[in-house]
Amino acid sequence: MSAPRTSYPSAQRAGLVACHACGLVSPLVRTGERQCCARCGATLHVRKPDSIARTYAFLIAAAIMYVPANLLPVMHTSSLLGSQDDTIMSGVVYFWTSGDWPLAVIVFVASILVPMLKLAVLTLLAITAQTGSRWRPLQRTRLYRGIEAIGRWSMLDIFVITLTVALVRFRSLAEITAGPGAVAFGVVVVLTMIASMQFDPRLIWDNIESSGKEHE
Ligand SMILES: [Zn+2]
Repeated sequence: MSAPRTSYPSAQRAGLVACHACGLVSPLVRTGERQCCARCGATLHVRKPDSIARTYAFLIAAAIMYVPANLLPVMHTSSLLGSQDDTIMSGVVYFWTSGDWPLAVIVFVASILVPMLKLAVLTLLAITAQTGSRWRPLQRTRLYRGIEAIGRWSMLDIFVITLTVALVRFRSLAEITAGPGAVAFGVVVVLTMIASMQFDPRLIWDNIESSGKEHE
């Protein structure tokens, strides 16, 4: 694969800044004071402020909450045969062994694989952006786009739980309630969503563009 071009015009190099709220492009005032959009009044930033630090903060919080999300029960089932607490993983095992393997796969992908991938990818992006890495910027940008697209499907799991609750209620006399793990899981989903929102993908290209300019 050929090296990415480094001679694209960029707003930052042209001394311009775009409003994140309405899109109006204004000349950047370099006085160190807060600059507001002339059209809508929003504060203007060349890059999202403290992008990497904020991404790290939400990532660490999400990683911490990932532990109870997987260890605490997400589902409490009580029936005439007794009661049972299920974590995400024991739920997956239960669906798999009882023959509902498509459901097992959906729950595994949506609740275990996707959040873990999101955490890993965002950590990689934050570390490489912080160190000013020039490693595969195009692929890293694609990874960011990928996790942004996946983010919309993170809540899929909640639908699966809802569906299961409805099915089990319909089929038997079991009573199913959500456990504390479900709350932790919801927190993980929201925290990783905010973490990916805080990350500014333009940071991936900044070092490449500036070092590319030096060679020109
Ligand atoms: Zn504006």
